[in-house]
Amino acid sequence: MTWVTVDRPTSEELDACVQCGLCLPVCPTFKLTGRETASPRGRLQAMSAVDSGIFTVDDTFAGIIDFCLGCRACEPVCPGLVPYGRMLEGVRAEIVSQVPGRQRRRKWLHGSAIPSRSVMRAGAGFLSLAQSLGMTGLAPKRYQRIIGGARRLRGRPRPSIGHVGGTGEAGTVGLLSGCIQDQWFRPVNQAAIQLLEMAGHRVEVPNAQTCCGALAAHDGRAAEAHRMAATNVGAFQGYDMVVATGAGCSAHLAGYGHWDDEGESIGEVSVDITVAVARAIEDGRLPALDTPRGEMAIQDPCHLRHAQGVTREPRQILEASGYQVVEIDEMAFCCGAAGLYTTLQPEAAAQLGNQKADQIRSTGVTRVASANPGCEMQLRSYLEDNYEIAHPVEWYLAALVEESEEG
Ligand code: SF4
Ligand code: SF4
Repeated sequence: MTWVTVDRPTSEELDACVQCGLCLPVCPTFKLTGRETASPRGRLQAMSAVDSGIFTVDDTFAGIIDFCLGCRACEPVCPGLVPYGRMLEGVRAEIVSQVPGRQRRRKWLHGSAIPSRSVMRAGAGFLSLAQSLGMTGLAPKRYQRIIGGARRLRGRPRPSIGHVGGTGEAGTVGLLSGCIQDQWFRPVNQAAIQLLEMAGHRVEVPNAQTCCGALAAHDGRAAEAHRMAATNVGAFQGYDMVVATGAGCSAHLAGYGHWDDEGESIGEVSVDITVAVARAIEDGRLPALDTPRGEMAIQDPCHLRHAQGVTREPRQILEASGYQVVEIDEMAFCCGAAGLYTTLQPEAAAQLGNQKADQIRSTGVTRVASANPGCEMQLRSYLEDNYEIAHPVEWYLAALVEESEEG
């Protein structure tokens, strides 16, 4: 049997690959193993073999696809413009539909837990309590890395959902609060709201929204991803700009055209918070500070750099905060977080996490900027406690506050 879902890779997409191999040196899983089947070209060949009926969607095929991080480092270097990330989500949907047992696995997580604010709130409450009691070590081993990399949740600000504020002379913004972001990374959302309002936007965080659906899409849960996209397309109609504060979320919103018939209208106006804030600094709606604040190491999340081509803006924000930006990895290899990858492929995730942590240590800089929640947790779980890791907009807001207190 070949494909059975509407999300499958199309023949046109598969034919775009000219087998040149330019993607091999940038692929982290190929670098780790040296195996063709762990490379973008090899995975595309496996998809083509299914498309032509030579191979079937079975456990062997699933193993080849499961090992992919979905980091999309293979896309910007590809002369054939192969939409690899889109195709990966499509074949993962096929695996969920065709490989026995996959339908049940993680169905509750993507269908009920992540989209539910009350379940996510309860989960954050448990984590906060466990952190306070020093009991996070009791969590199952496969979740230790994620939990160990989480921020301290006690005393976190109120959720941003339902917030309305700002003048609106620079236009209206609908803010995606996010599932994990809304519970585990509230200070990032609060910083985003403050900065967008200072920049003249009217900011609303609509109640009717849900998780963007990125985690479900990356895991092959196409039905759930389509459902979440439809809810958000309804919730975010009419805003001049839709902003997400996690790179994985903003990348997914930009691709909403695939996930909902009306999704293009959201995809066209959605941007990552780093882009919105950098624009405001460029326009003079937010200040650029000139007090030197020392060095800041920057980590490029794959879904910002590879999936959206955004590299300049986070650096602009840090420079406008007074930091001297220190690069850690010219190739911007994935840190190994990659959604659920740390729990599903723990060995490869650990190799990549250690590699990234070593690169940061070698800079000698202990302040780190990362614009994605998964990357931040992965970095924190591999770095020592003296490393301070925060989102670029948090570093910028802190610098503005410091400057106003000093001045
Ligand atoms: S770079 Fe693009 S065209 Fe070349 S092998 Fe990789 S996916 Fe195929
Ligand atoms: S998404 Fe990342 S891990 Fe997967 S094939 Fe492309 S470069 Fe390799």
